[in-house]
Amino acid sequence: MAQLIDGKLVSAKTREKIKFKVKERSKKGFLPDLAVIVVGNNPASAVYVKNKIKSAEDVGIATRVLQYPEDVSEQEILDRIYRLNNDYLVNGILVQLPLPNHISEKKIASAISPSKDVDAFHPENVGKIFLGNYNFLPCTPAGIIRLLEYYKVEISGKRCVVIGRSNIVGKPMAHLLLERNGTVTVCHSKTPNLAEITKQADILVVAVGKPQFITADMVKPDAVVIDVGINRLDNGKLVGDVDFNSVSEIASYITPVPGGVGLMTVTMLLENTLKAAEIQVNNLN
Ligand code: NAD
Repeated sequence: MAQLIDGKLVSAKTREKIKFKVKERSKKGFLPDLAVIVVGNNPASAVYVKNKIKSAEDVGIATRVLQYPEDVSEQEILDRIYRLNNDYLVNGILVQLPLPNHISEKKIASAISPSKDVDAFHPENVGKIFLGNYNFLPCTPAGIIRLLEYYKVEISGKRCVVIGRSNIVGKPMAHLLLERNGTVTVCHSKTPNLAEITKQADILVVAVGKPQFITADMVKPDAVVIDVGINRLDNGKLVGDVDFNSVSEIASYITPVPGGVGLMTVTMLLENTLKAAEIQVNNLN
């Protein structure tokens, strides 16, 4: 039976440290401040944003939610971002995805000042990540690396398989594993014979968006399995991309859903916001 990789535990410990640092900084008169831009009324986004705001406030980070209707123009969002870029009281800016089709996610990501880009989606930050010289990492892959570090899972020399090639999870995840000397394969929707590849993985990261897609017959015994997926079933239950019951019988470590990667994603956002604030204050001094 696999040992659980407890995102709740690691997240709580990390948030305690962030809270302490925020308190120390607030004694010197500054409070990290996160601005969240929300467009439309996507119910899943509303839950994510509420969660981010509550988590930020729990550690003492100030927040502001800027809510826009679904039909807001791209220019209006860009203008708001430019104003936030120049507002010295705001340290971190994030625009909740997905955006309506008439707003370009690429344009929006490029408009946010790289020094306030707490999601690490700006092309300059993406470039820095690939050169190994970064201030911010994208929150989900960063959270996964933290979990692996906490449980002392060795990456160097290991066969790592990442399923999914999104810009926010799969691609940066593959890079971070490679940077830590893993031998990395990225699989995607056009990969033939997926199970043949997944069965070779010592570390398997699954970010596909299909409920219980990875079953025990696709997993090498004693593999470390990281489930990024968040899927809501018709009965309302939240499940990952991994069939937890069967895979936990053969894996050595596994993340649960909920209680795994999702919590760490938010925790890394808090850490990035604190870091952004520290960098900006140091630049002012
Ligand atoms: P996405 O939705 O942009 O893309 C899915 C990826 O899966 C694509 O790269 C595609 O090639 C691949 N894929 C689809 N079908 C496949 C198949 N049959 N075989 C192999 N690969 C296949 O990806 P995303 O934004 O990275 O999201 C993936 C999942 O992770 C979603 O469930 C999302 O909700 C979840 N997610 C969770 C967190 C978190 O904090 N836990 C963060 C981001 C995303």
